[in-house]
Amino acid sequence: MAADPSSTSPSVPAADGADYADTASAAYRAALQVIESVEPRVAAATRKELADQRDSLKLIASENYASPAVLLTMGTWLSDKYAEGTIGHRFYAGCQNVDTVESVAAEHARELFGAPYAYVQPHSGIDANLVAFWAILATRVEAPELANLGAKHVNDLSEADWETLRNKLGNQRLLGMSLDAGGHLTHGFRPNISGKMFHQRSYGTNPETGFLDYDAVAAAAREFKPLVLVAGYSAYPRRVNFAKMREIADEVGATLMVDMAHFAGLVAGKVFTGDEDPVPHAHVTTTTTHKSLRGPRGGMVLATEEYAPAVDKGCPMVLGGPLSHVMAAKAVALAEARQPAFGKYAQQVADNAQALADGFIKRDAGLVTGGTDNHIVLLDVTSFGLTGRQAESALLDAGIVTNRNSIPADPNGAWYTSGIRLGTPALTSRGFGADEFDRVAELIVEVLSNTQPEGSAGSVSKAKYKLTDGTADRVHAAASELLSANPLYPGLTL
Ligand SMILES: *Cc1c(COP(=O)(O)O)cnc(C)c1O
Repeated sequence: MAADPSSTSPSVPAADGADYADTASAAYRAALQVIESVEPRVAAATRKELADQRDSLKLIASENYASPAVLLTMGTWLSDKYAEGTIGHRFYAGCQNVDTVESVAAEHARELFGAPYAYVQPHSGIDANLVAFWAILATRVEAPELANLGAKHVNDLSEADWETLRNKLGNQRLLGMSLDAGGHLTHGFRPNISGKMFHQRSYGTNPETGFLDYDAVAAAAREFKPLVLVAGYSAYPRRVNFAKMREIADEVGATLMVDMAHFAGLVAGKVFTGDEDPVPHAHVTTTTTHKSLRGPRGGMVLATEEYAPAVDKGCPMVLGGPLSHVMAAKAVALAEARQPAFGKYAQQVADNAQALADGFIKRDAGLVTGGTDNHIVLLDVTSFGLTGRQAESALLDAGIVTNRNSIPADPNGAWYTSGIRLGTPALTSRGFGADEFDRVAELIVEVLSNTQPEGSAGSVSKAKYKLTDGTADRVHAAASELLSANPLYPGLTL
């Protein structure tokens, strides 16, 4: 985004760093020189990564570009400190500066999201979910058969109690969104511990409309009676009514956990308000900090007073020592997200997704749910006679970075898939607007309509494909033009 001096306080620079680019350039030049003197290959790869990022049309919905201020904050000696425990109660001496950093980050998070409590230690989104699951168990699971051992909650158990508890935990239930409807692995699926420690069932979307079907969620909840109802997604192109999800949770006595990893930036920027803001409705809200929120790679948990004491035990319950340098960067990113400029950014992310969807619709490409009202567009590439795998590879040949994704009732299965997931947060950070996103839709359609699956009738490949000669180069050149008109980290020179 272009710097907007009227909305940027002197203490919090604009997120693209344009107003302090000279200072940041000097810092990076010095840092790379130091790195080079020890391991030149790492310095070279770091330089090359900037060049690659600058020259790729990044539509990966979970990625973004953090500001130079956020990035620079991670490269300090705060990394050297061990600080297991919580603010003011550490297992190590000398943590007063880490206490300051963690307090500032938590204060910004509470105020930005209007949450009674914020825990900024989780190292990633998955870790934040693990903290939340254990906090819900610790708060909710009474162990009456263990009462004679003097333990009331899971946090109070002895080693022998744990043995009994492992069986006990196996009987807890979790209801989350199915993977093919856009849910996340940590919402109760087998490759993740959430699918092993809970009995899991999932809710999907309406097969005709592709929209979340609240009546079906309610019916599943009444029948299954979960301890935890998880809302949130990684690949669903629509808003969710969290007030309705809370009603469903309350009716069956479930804890509502919302994983806003993908759309936290739209919540922070007040694009999602009222029933669409998860924080006032959920008992526990988890998130990443590096997706639409545009912070450092990491996670965070917001909670009500009821769940706060158990969330606060995340480290050492399930987390290793906090990454103090990353908590510092979270504080800086959250300070940026509290600026009016971030609200404009978030609105532009949503407007751009709309423009991208409209660009596909007017060119007759199929979209799951027929459009979007968040930051995600899910393109159904069966409308081009391709699998997701073929479309993803052909687009990459033309310099367009996306990822393949299942669509509901996917005819090509979870590996080859039939969808391409596109997100607007990253390119919006570079300054792309609606016109640029219409052009992006045009370029994607140009690639996909010039791509054919290899093979002949009866044995068509799901992976191999052929692009019409010249398409990749032509589209790559057009994409580069868009990118150089909207430079990444303007003014930053190595
Ligand atoms: C990305 C994502 C996560 C995982 O985040 P990591 O930081 O990669 O661990 C969890 N939940 C949802 C919904 C996500 O989209």
